[in-house]
Amino acid sequence: MHNKAEKVRCLIIGSGPAGYTAAIYAARADLKPVVYQGLQPGGQLTITTEVENYPGYPEGRSGPEMMEDFRKQAERFGTDNRFGIITEVDLTKRPFRAVADDGKTLEAEAIIISTGASARWLGLESEKKYNGYGVSACATCDGFFFRGKEVAVVGGGDTAAEEATYLSKLCKKVYLIHRRDELRASKAMQERVLKTANIEPVWYNTVKEILGDGKVVTGVMLESTKDGSLRQLEIDGLFIAIGHSPNSDIFKGQLEMDENGYIKTFPGTTKTNIEGVFAAGDVQDHVYRQAITAAGTGCMAAIEAERFLSSLE
Ligand code: NDP
Repeated sequence: MHNKAEKVRCLIIGSGPAGYTAAIYAARADLKPVVYQGLQPGGQLTITTEVENYPGYPEGRSGPEMMEDFRKQAERFGTDNRFGIITEVDLTKRPFRAVADDGKTLEAEAIIISTGASARWLGLESEKKYNGYGVSACATCDGFFFRGKEVAVVGGGDTAAEEATYLSKLCKKVYLIHRRDELRASKAMQERVLKTANIEPVWYNTVKEILGDGKVVTGVMLESTKDGSLRQLEIDGLFIAIGHSPNSDIFKGQLEMDENGYIKTFPGTTKTNIEGVFAAGDVQDHVYRQAITAAGTGCMAAIEAERFLSSLE
């Protein structure tokens, strides 16, 4: 971290609803925010379908379109929005230092972390082998390839329910594999799933192995969570929807986190254990994890960053 650093008042790392909302507020407060968009510009909403529960969109809005709206709104007030990833940070003293993947070093007076969370995988060798060849974590990205075919979704939360519903419109049959007999998804999503004729829940089962012909997926080996019995299910595609992990690796050892890697914030604030570093959205929230709560905490982070910076003057 020795090359000449670019000075930034407020660095925002990550570009989902939390990051862009922080940028809107920070830009309007004249903090001249610089946003590094990260691996997935726009965040997880860009791989979702319709968002129906975000206030202000009475007819719903597709996730990618909504994130475009957020981005444009942030840019309208002068946000410097950059493609790129922050790969390293030094939060031991101010100004904080951050290095981007193009080698550029930044010196930031305040940092807002809004790096979100990423889809979790089952952790099977076969899952890696067939990733992109029948295994996916994004129905809206890959569902198209399975038109008229039989697929399965693993998981019992809102993501699994949403993926299954989306796929049911394209595929002949969708198995919903869940380790219990009760979905964690919201009641509305549960109802939609259970009412859809070509979605068949497979209760009390997990995926023990993904089967294939060496090139593409041909099925899965299921294991009963009741008695451990095994059975084979023939499918062409498997969509993994078993939750998320926070994207907090680059802050490990510097910021306080819980045992799952979620950044700890002081209750009712977005303040971390380091003054001047704030965390908003899914990287610090394993409870609500909604676009609207992420946006809310993004707003809080920008207001807190603004107050912090003015207290230095
Ligand atoms: P969740 O953590 O809510 O659900 C994960 C599911 O995967 C659970 O049913 C869990 O089972 C199951 N699971 C976890 N690990 C494994 C494993 N190793 N093998 C098999 N099954 C496993 O994650 P989601 O991604 O569904 O949702 C995350 C958040 O995002 C939630 O707050 C949700 O409400 C929200 N969301 C909202 C949407 C919307 O409103 N449109 C759309 C998508 C998500 P078990 O239940 O037994 O623990």
